[in-house]
Amino acid sequence: MFIDSHCHLNFACFDIQREMLLQILAENNITKVIVPATHRAEWKHIKELSEKHPNLYYALGYHPHFLEYFRQGDLQYLQTLLEKSPPRCVALGEIGLDKFAKSSTEIQERIFIQQLKIAQQLSLPVILHVVKKQGRALEILGEQKFTQGGVYHAFSGSKEVALAFIKLGFKIGVGGVITYPNSVTTRATIAALPLEALVLETDAPDMPVYQQEQADNSPLNLLKIFAALKTLRSEPEKELAEQLYLNTRSIFSLGND
Ligand SMILES: [Zn+2]
Repeated sequence: MFIDSHCHLNFACFDIQREMLLQILAENNITKVIVPATHRAEWKHIKELSEKHPNLYYALGYHPHFLEYFRQGDLQYLQTLLEKSPPRCVALGEIGLDKFAKSSTEIQERIFIQQLKIAQQLSLPVILHVVKKQGRALEILGEQKFTQGGVYHAFSGSKEVALAFIKLGFKIGVGGVITYPNSVTTRATIAALPLEALVLETDAPDMPVYQQEQADNSPLNLLKIFAALKTLRSEPEKELAEQLYLNTRSIFSLGND
């Protein structure tokens, strides 16, 4: 069985086919999907979707690319939602720092830190989105004494950096990047990390896989990412799949089934 630990199934591009897609995913052994949020306007919809579909779980948070929508009071509202959230809400995310986001470093860091504080207070893991700011993100996690861990989503980078996040309780999100033969560094990193540190994700409809660059990504491509991972790892397929499943469940509380 597989879990897509990061898929934006709430996006409008999935509206027409969402029901069918969830069915196809289940038929292909992708039995759980975690839907992270990017900003406040999504929170209610994501919550409602996951309440409707037993295979969906979710995270709520403010993504660094969406801080232009940020308004006074949003974090208090986030905290209220998370405090009274049903069990299907399994993390705070996605949050982090991104060199290419429009908002200033100062704003990004302030909102990131405030969300880490909420997660720490509520004992929730976080889903990290960190691009070209890995050193600073590590510093902040250390300064905040953040102990809830989570997933570093769509990781790309060196083994040393990955290990620094793993040491702080994070799993490394393995996505479409590894399907590209020219992603030499990230493929080498994912090949060399301890298996217990890896989780699978698609980030659909973003991050298309190799040779489907023009199309919207689909959570069904989790199987393509798994196939690419198999070629990088020495473990037998069954062991690999089982451990990835357990790793995801060790971070997120996904019920008993
Ligand atoms: Zn995402």
